[in-house]
Amino acid sequence: MDVGRRILVTGGAGFLGSHLCERLLAEGHDVLCVDNFFTSSRRNVEHLIGHRHFELMRHDVTFPLYVEVDEIYNLACPASPVHYQFDPVQTTKTSVLGAINMLGLAKRLKARILQASTSEVYGDPIVHPQTEAYWGNVNPVGFRSCYDEGKRCAETLLFDYRRQHRLGIKVVRIFNTYGPRMHPNDGRVVSNFIVQALRGEDITIYGDGQQTRSFCYADDLIDAMMRMMATPDNVTGPINIGNPGEFTIRQLAEMVIELTGSRSKIVNRPLPSDDPKQRRPDISLAQEMLGWQPRTPLREGLIKTIAYFDSFLSSRKIAAE
Ligand code: NAD
Ligand code: UDP
Repeated sequence: MDVGRRILVTGGAGFLGSHLCERLLAEGHDVLCVDNFFTSSRRNVEHLIGHRHFELMRHDVTFPLYVEVDEIYNLACPASPVHYQFDPVQTTKTSVLGAINMLGLAKRLKARILQASTSEVYGDPIVHPQTEAYWGNVNPVGFRSCYDEGKRCAETLLFDYRRQHRLGIKVVRIFNTYGPRMHPNDGRVVSNFIVQALRGEDITIYGDGQQTRSFCYADDLIDAMMRMMATPDNVTGPINIGNPGEFTIRQLAEMVIELTGSRSKIVNRPLPSDDPKQRRPDISLAQEMLGWQPRTPLREGLIKTIAYFDSFLSSRKIAAE
């Protein structure tokens, strides 16, 4: 692989973005991390500040950006339901205007662009497991639509820029991913359950807990994203990346309780509207095109994530004392 490219990571201070910046730097690239810190903080990348190949820029991708780079990873977008529903109009703007601005930049620079899309483009899927050929079952006017439709439109834009301007595009559909540096209050199920268990608070299962998700550890996901960027020009995706191991939310809660040794009780809360009943990626295409499959079993990834939150929460407690 050629080294020393200039790479823009939008949303680079976020959970996945910060891991990506780290890995790109480790491979010898120059990394420009752009973020408006809507759902993150400098803390996620503070260990990179001062690295001679790392630059951090505060910028909102709904506005044009004029920089010089060779590749673009477009990750900027709130990802948890709590965060993306906080200001749904801004969420759609971030996906759609953000994609337009980053595609305009890519076009001027003749740079490759990779879009972080999502399993949410399948909505509440009727086809199970989800293959890339499935067009989805998305409510266009519900609470999740700002995210789902915004991401769908971003995919459309990437493919139209390819057809109209022959741009080098890559679209990855990311399924639920977890790991260190998730926001402790972002409401996503893995961070919620771990934080609740470590604090001895009730574990909140929404609905009966029989809905399923497939959880991928961050390191595996980043590996797939970087492999995708390195594929030849004719490989555009969309391509599913995630861990096909499927668990009910109740099973996840029980595993977190076991691994933390917590005395927390499980309680049931109302199920949010349009909450998908099942989700599992078919990753045959990723296996074939990227020679990739996730390596971290849920139990192993949870142990690492619990260790992260344990030290994160203790450091915050010490700071508050
Ligand atoms: P995150 O919320 O930790 O990161 C998103 C980052 O984007 C944050 O740093 C945030 O401040 C930044 N951002 C938001 N709006 C912005 C704007 N207008 N301009 C500039 N920066 C902005 O979430 P994440 O889990 O790291 O997700 C990263 C990407 O991956 C997102 O595009 C998300 O949709 C996608 N994705 C993630 C998952 C997952 O399970 N983690 C699943 C599917 C898709
Ligand atoms: N969930 C839950 N308790 C929580 C947070 C989430 O039971 O404290 C459920 C949520 O209703 C959904 C699943 O866990 O069925 C995954 O939620 P998350 O917000 O992590 O991601 P989603 O896949 O729904 O975008």
